[in-house]
Amino acid sequence: MGAAFDTLLEKVKGEVPCVSVDAARARLNNGATPLLIDVREREAFAEGYIPGAENIPRGFLELQIEGVSNDRSRAILLYGDDSQSALATRDLVNMGYKNVSYIDGGLGAWKDAGYETAKDRPLTKAETFRYARHLIVPEVGERGQGKLLDARVLLIGAGGLGSPAAYYLAAAGVGTVGIVDADVVDVSNLQRQILHGTSDVGRPKVVSAYEKLKDMNPACNVVPHQIYLTSDNVMEVIEPYDIVVNGCDNFPTRYLINDACVFSGKPIVDGSIFRFDGQVTIFPCDKEGPCYRCLYPEPPPAEMAPSCAEAGVLGVLPGTVGLIQATEVVKLILGAGDPLIGRLLMFDALQMSFKNFKIRRDVNCPVCGDNPEITELIDYVAFCSGVNLSELPKEAAG
Ligand SMILES: [Zn+2]
Repeated sequence: MGAAFDTLLEKVKGEVPCVSVDAARARLNNGATPLLIDVREREAFAEGYIPGAENIPRGFLELQIEGVSNDRSRAILLYGDDSQSALATRDLVNMGYKNVSYIDGGLGAWKDAGYETAKDRPLTKAETFRYARHLIVPEVGERGQGKLLDARVLLIGAGGLGSPAAYYLAAAGVGTVGIVDADVVDVSNLQRQILHGTSDVGRPKVVSAYEKLKDMNPACNVVPHQIYLTSDNVMEVIEPYDIVVNGCDNFPTRYLINDACVFSGKPIVDGSIFRFDGQVTIFPCDKEGPCYRCLYPEPPPAEMAPSCAEAGVLGVLPGTVGLIQATEVVKLILGAGDPLIGRLLMFDALQMSFKNFKIRRDVNCPVCGDNPEITELIDYVAFCSGVNLSELPKEAAG
């Protein structure tokens, strides 16, 4: 770099705000966390970064910053190599960002102070090829793909909703996809349950699902659970997973899953279908939003609850609803966008309309409320009607 550049750099450094690594760390650990941006090149970022940092190489900063935050008053901390930081800060100030400063000394000073760093999961060559179209999406990138590959998602049901969700989650690179389904494929399933084919009739759905998903993405760890969920096994089954996708439409399982996820703090991406209507929401199960019992504290009497077989369902409908569920799962894993928490999305296929309804956590909820009455799992099948678990509705999985 020439003398003229050095002079410019000194001038810029004198003009833009700068903080020490200690001050930066204190701000990052504070409740109102600033947006932290690493402006180094991707290769440098891949070797390690300050935890929580987004990577926007300086050459892309002006193009991409508005996609990350359009709020000009948002507090932004950035860091890079010595000369990059001050110049990048000036660029953002020139764009109208009012609260930008850079971390003096960048990652080097951060490490020297003994503070921890983070490192993304490196992708293999095969993964780089397979997920090439993800890697160029700013909200995914190598880092997001790494999160997808590390994610463990459990699908309840390999039926109408579980089929499209499983296909797309496996294709997207979700590393572990577990599937719970005790049923075998029936010819009447094939109108909508696209994981299964005519040659699968009579075979366990989890086996058929396993084969299809492994063919789609051999690296995906597909875990079949050919069981009925009960209070005895549900905690053990969900334990290894980060997110539960509910594709069942029988009430005993819905309540069982809800309570188990509240007890273990795992989010449920919930979907349901009825004729031409679909619904999707996320029950975060961490008091940040409602659970299923906040909306419906107790199950209806067995004779009031239609199963899919009785109610009928348009074959294409679970495709749309299951893929909205899959989309929400991917967003949750990436930490991208605005998840369907506290919102119930209603889809009317006849009108081709989507409506959002606000839903709230109930502080008096029997399971997630402030003084819960339900502190143990309940098997409503046995409790309500005394039927044997093996007599659960055949179409339980939609
Ligand atoms: Zn609740």
